Amino acid sequence: MQRDIMRYLNPSLRDIAAYSVEGGQQAAIKLNQNESPFDLPMWLKEAIVSEFVREPWNRYPDILPYRGTKAYADFLGVPAEGVMMGNGSNELLYTIFLACLGPGRKILVPDPSFSLYEKLALLLQASLVRVPLKASLDFDVDAIIQSAQEESVDFVVLSSPNNPTGKSITFDDIRRIASSCDALVLVDEAYIEFSRQDSALPLIEEFPNLVVLRTMSKALALAGMRIGFAIGRPELIAEIAKPKIPFASSRLAEITLMHVLENYAIVTDAVSYILNVRDELYGELLSVQGVEPFMSDTNFLVIRVPDADAVFRKLIGRGILVRNVSGYHLMKNCLRFNIGLPDENSRLLDALLAINGGMA
Ligand code: PMP
Repeated sequence: MQRDIMRYLNPSLRDIAAYSVEGGQQAAIKLNQNESPFDLPMWLKEAIVSEFVREPWNRYPDILPYRGTKAYADFLGVPAEGVMMGNGSNELLYTIFLACLGPGRKILVPDPSFSLYEKLALLLQASLVRVPLKASLDFDVDAIIQSAQEESVDFVVLSSPNNPTGKSITFDDIRRIASSCDALVLVDEAYIEFSRQDSALPLIEEFPNLVVLRTMSKALALAGMRIGFAIGRPELIAEIAKPKIPFASSRLAEITLMHVLENYAIVTDAVSYILNVRDELYGELLSVQGVEPFMSDTNFLVIRVPDADAVFRKLIGRGILVRNVSGYHLMKNCLRFNIGLPDENSRLLDALLAINGGMA
């Protein structure tokens, strides 16, 4: 019998692609996934592992990881009931989207924004209301508010600071959005530690419809450990946690998180290095011929070049892997790269100077 496997599957799968990273995940100089260039020091890794070996590996961890949740709640100064820990913030995006969306439900997504939002919305057969950013790649807050009201959306997702642009929404504008629409507002603060804007966290007291998402993959340098958090009012978190995968966080992730929070000076030092280099590199890129850098509130920079595909390939030829974000709306000929180690940044700068013919 001839079998069409697509017939057995969710029809939405036809419209979505598996998550992939152009150019792969290996390179001599890897700047394409907004990771931290600093691994944890060996003494800290050893302390984590020696605690982990004393844990029972044959037993399930807690259904919801109580220790890690409590540690992060204490760190933020919020009640543990208002915090949900996940296996990376991606897992929490799946959880929250499952809790909020389905056929007949509407989600507003600024365009461009983190690609997973649209993918999940399509998978769940929700209707998508895309609100374009401004040509400067800044958020169009008035347009967001207007569309949210006119389209009566159920869910607004804002990556602030935004991946892939690096731009933020101000605290006051998040308040305007949360107060003006009758929707759940998710503020994904994956890059907040690098932002000039304040976190939306204090607004949770004011708005029962606000959820803040955090990741430990960027500033906390734990991308390999898969740790993320959602923070909101306890009564909201209790509801949106219902679709959560049970036992999704490993004991190792919980222990690692607790150790890193106890040694937070490591994070603060890394963040100040990244902020200094980011702003310095932005200034240097302004004077590279054919390169237009955008101001960033994250650990990455976006540049516009005359031919992004060609520059992307030439950088790969020099062992430097960046992200080609040209396919995104308004981002034609743009490349994105995170701040690396000093030598990596200077090799990137030298390469851009060589490829583009020197100083402007
Ligand atoms: N949100 C945004 C805006 C991101 O850029 C990323 C990572 N690229 C994530 C969420 C997911 O991060 P993680 O699953 O590693 O916590």
